[in-house]
Amino acid sequence: MTTTIAPIRIGLAANRAHQDAANSALVQLLAGGHAAIEQLQPHFIIVGRTMDAIQTHGLLPGYPFIERFPYGREGGLMMLVSRVVETDPAKALDAVIYLIDPVDPSSNFPEALALKRQCIIHGKPFLSTLAGAREWLELEAVARGTAPDPAMHDLFDFANESIALIAHDAFKDRMLALAEKHFDLLDRFKSRCATGTTGGLLNQLAQKIKGEEAGKNWGTPYRSGPLGGDAQIAELILRRQCRRVLFLEDPHVARQHEADIQLLDRAARTVSDYASCRSDVNGVDRWLTLMSLREQKRM
Ligand code: PGA
Repeated sequence: MTTTIAPIRIGLAANRAHQDAANSALVQLLAGGHAAIEQLQPHFIIVGRTMDAIQTHGLLPGYPFIERFPYGREGGLMMLVSRVVETDPAKALDAVIYLIDPVDPSSNFPEALALKRQCIIHGKPFLSTLAGAREWLELEAVARGTAPDPAMHDLFDFANESIALIAHDAFKDRMLALAEKHFDLLDRFKSRCATGTTGGLLNQLAQKIKGEEAGKNWGTPYRSGPLGGDAQIAELILRRQCRRVLFLEDPHVARQHEADIQLLDRAARTVSDYASCRSDVNGVDRWLTLMSLREQKRM
């Protein structure tokens, strides 16, 4: 008996600066991710101008699983938000790739902010950088049996990379559980950084696991989030000294330092080819699991 796995449904949009050039982020994603797309056969729901650019570039030729949504100015991005929260599994999106140019005003429109927020609430990946989207496609293909793509190895060079770990108060226990579960992987990174309180808790955990001395500086704690830690980590990202951000955001409270949180997102999008940022709690568990799986398969 064969079991049918439901196709992954991906909402896809890109700001203008990521569409038109011959080597735009959109081109790099779809041409470079060709093997993963072949394997996953995802259904794409694509906002109008992004779809036009795909056709102009001759990307996804003859690909059968595409639904075109209206242009952004006609509500295409707003309709993607509705599909994130949709209860009908035949219509609901499983992930959103929205390649954001941080200086494009539309990247701060309410629909752009709501898209990310509803993805977090409904546990769906919101991938706003080229690196994050490439990595996600590769990992999901590996999860379904594809061999790791050697062209992607440079995206997974943990021994030379730093990862940022941040959790809002309601998710600090969750962060500790995730860090404990995936300790071996996180420990293989060259370094870890964190906002102040989260970092202190993670170092206590590391001391339990590695011993008091070896664990005490496991992660570098920067300032607490409300006191500017997000901005300090943003600088590391902008300097390409920290590639991944695992940020367990609380979407259900008003955040006094909302501007700082968005600043961190914008930093990752400024170095779109380099950084990735994940905030969907369940998805982060899968992300770490699949990164370990890819490491095993690569050996
Ligand atoms: P904290 O910062 O780790 O210092 O609590 C995270 C936040 O709440 O922004």
